[in-house]
Amino acid sequence: GQRVVLITGCSSGIGLAIAVMLARDKMKRYYVIGTMRDLKRKDKLVEAVGDAYGKTLSLLTLDVCSDESVKQCVDSVKDRHIDILINNAGVGLVGPVEALSLDEMKQVFETNFFGVVRMIKEVMPDMKSRRSGHIIVISSVLGLHGVAFNDVYSASKFATEGMCEGLAIQLMKFNINVSMIEPGPVNTEFEMKLMTEVSKKEFVGADAETLNHFRTCYLPTQINLFKGLGQTPEDIAKVTKKVIESPRPPFRNLTNPLYTPIVALKYADETRGLSVRTFYHMLYNLGGIMHVSQIEALKLLKDWNYSQINCVQQ
Ligand code: NAD
Repeated sequence: GQRVVLITGCSSGIGLAIAVMLARDKMKRYYVIGTMRDLKRKDKLVEAVGDAYGKTLSLLTLDVCSDESVKQCVDSVKDRHIDILINNAGVGLVGPVEALSLDEMKQVFETNFFGVVRMIKEVMPDMKSRRSGHIIVISSVLGLHGVAFNDVYSASKFATEGMCEGLAIQLMKFNINVSMIEPGPVNTEFEMKLMTEVSKKEFVGADAETLNHFRTCYLPTQINLFKGLGQTPEDIAKVTKKVIESPRPPFRNLTNPLYTPIVALKYADETRGLSVRTFYHMLYNLGGIMHVSQIEALKLLKDWNYSQINCVQQ
């Protein structure tokens, strides 16, 4: 029969693309429950999915930050039966740590980490009793290494990676798979939202020198990385579908081969000196001035052979 897939944060970006790709599967192998905080924002998804709407795709309200909303949503799924849970909802936060409030940071964890925890707590017990299921998290390469000025976002993804790494072991006994999808830059509203926020913020609390690094090194580098090697939400959807359909789904799944070497640097040098220095060089020596070189450098690094790092080729 059809496998029931519940996806969080489907009104835009990667969540929307995954919902559309699975609901439009030629063999109709999936019944997709696309969820979002506010169903008033459903039009983009409904339009993109076309005639699959009402057949292989239905919609439910879900806010991953609310215990009540999560319970209500899962309770209204037929027999609470969810075969595949895709945790996609997430928010970003950039800027010097000293200029960010604890409340902003907690909100990032509330969505990116506790949001995933809430969903898993609600869905996993039923999966365990059925002895089948697949839990997927749209994590990030920032869940594998830190990037300057993304410290708290990165921490929230590391936290999720850590939790799921433990769960993956426990759940193997119940025939439940856990998979992390780790995209690099993806061109969605995510980056736009961040950049709009950044342009409005004054970052009170950070000294002038730090702010200068942030604005003249980090931001231009970031914008160019998205332009130069950003993937599309459909690219991420393809990788996710491939992972779902794999007979033995890997735990970690990078989506962009250009990031394989950067991730590998961490494993190549236990002290992390190598990766910290490489990022330093990329940010302060190449960043902002020679954007192209930075992308070229990543391309060169790509040819190194790191067979240990799994990157799903589309
Ligand atoms: P996006 O902003 O288009 O999508 C995020 C979605 O999550 C939005 O639809 C938003 O409304 C929803 N959301 C936020 N808070 C929510 C809540 N409390 N409950 C339910 N939904 C909520 O951006 P995206 O790029 O599609 O992001 C999807 C995921 O991909 C995120 O987890 C993000 O961290 C991750 N990611 C994005 C990138 C990138 O460069 N865009 C890279 C790596 C990982």
